[in-house]
Amino acid sequence: MGKIVMDIERCKGCGYCVSVCPQKLININNTYNRKGFPVASFKPEKDDDCKACKLCAEICPDVVIEVYK
Ligand code: SF4
Ligand code: SF4
Repeated sequence: MGKIVMDIERCKGCGYCVSVCPQKLININNTYNRKGFPVASFKPEKDDDCKACKLCAEICPDVVIEVYK
């Protein structure tokens, strides 16, 4: 249903998107961007897991996330 795309080079690893996703589809793992921040990653198990609610994109202070339906 929904899909998000992240510009991980802008991510600062704050975790706000992780905390707001009602589907728990975003994690911060051991991947780092070129600035050395741990970055968020989107890990849906099924195509319809993401509801395209945009909460993650709205809370991100660094405009990392775009949401597509
Ligand atoms: S759009 Fe909503 S459901 Fe999809 S990843 Fe973002 S917060 Fe989660
Ligand atoms: S809210 Fe934005 S900057 Fe913070 S971890 Fe998520 S994608 Fe990265």
